[in-house]
Amino acid sequence: MNSSDGDRLYRFLFEDFPIRGQWVRLEATWEEAQSRRTDPAPVRRLLGESMAAAALLTAGIKFEGRLNLQVEGDGPLRLLLAQCDHHLHLRATARYDQDLPAEQLDFGDNGRLLLALEGQKPGERYQGVVPLAGDDLAGAIEHYFTQSEQLPARLLLAGDAHAVVGLLLQRMPGDSPDEDAWNRCNHLLDTLSSAELLQWPVETLLRRVFAEETIRLFDPTPVSFRCRCSREGVATMLRQLGEAELQDILREQGGVTVTCEFCGRDYGFDAVDVGQLLVDATPPSSGLTH
Ligand SMILES: [Zn+2]
Repeated sequence: MNSSDGDRLYRFLFEDFPIRGQWVRLEATWEEAQSRRTDPAPVRRLLGESMAAAALLTAGIKFEGRLNLQVEGDGPLRLLLAQCDHHLHLRATARYDQDLPAEQLDFGDNGRLLLALEGQKPGERYQGVVPLAGDDLAGAIEHYFTQSEQLPARLLLAGDAHAVVGLLLQRMPGDSPDEDAWNRCNHLLDTLSSAELLQWPVETLLRRVFAEETIRLFDPTPVSFRCRCSREGVATMLRQLGEAELQDILREQGGVTVTCEFCGRDYGFDAVDVGQLLVDATPPSSGLTH
């Protein structure tokens, strides 16, 4: 194993036909994400896969901002959300019933997959939604590409406690001089086992799977775990609860503690802190409100 491939994303191009790809391997990123959460194994697996997929999808878009990869449902598993920004900073969370079945993951009958891009300017947002289809997260994302982009994509994801690896192949717009190239590449990928996907460095994988094809592999980009939560952000959220609600919590619990659902960090506010944040919220004398 080439350890320098950990927490790296590689882009590659097939030289002779319009297909491109991305490959990512999360190690420290994945360890950090797991160390901050306590989830049952099936949820943990989905969190890892969703982080790898979010990195691959973000790397395929020229965009400054944040990508949200979100699965929603009305089953025991209600929400899976992975976020990646254009620096390839990742975080993820899940919401589920505490009595989640040990093995079977169920988003219910009305599951849907959302992909949203949030730009850095206010209001700059693009979102696509499709009903959940396919046998797993990779299948659901492939279905999204067929429905929304009208171009096929192939996504492979594999993970264990130490690493998550993802490989995305995308058919690009335009005529291909080699009509069979997409099918051929897919058949070749069918021969790759999850263990090989997880273990092989990217050069080995491309050389062994696509032995006959000419591929240009670009320099890698680092990927890392990073949460954007802050005390200020939590204070803003608490203000929105309103004074009455905050006073109720203070009376019952003696303080207000908010735990970030992405990184598990606790933000504590005592009575003095709450008083201060309510003073800070007093509108300026011009009376302008939002
Ligand atoms: Zn956080």
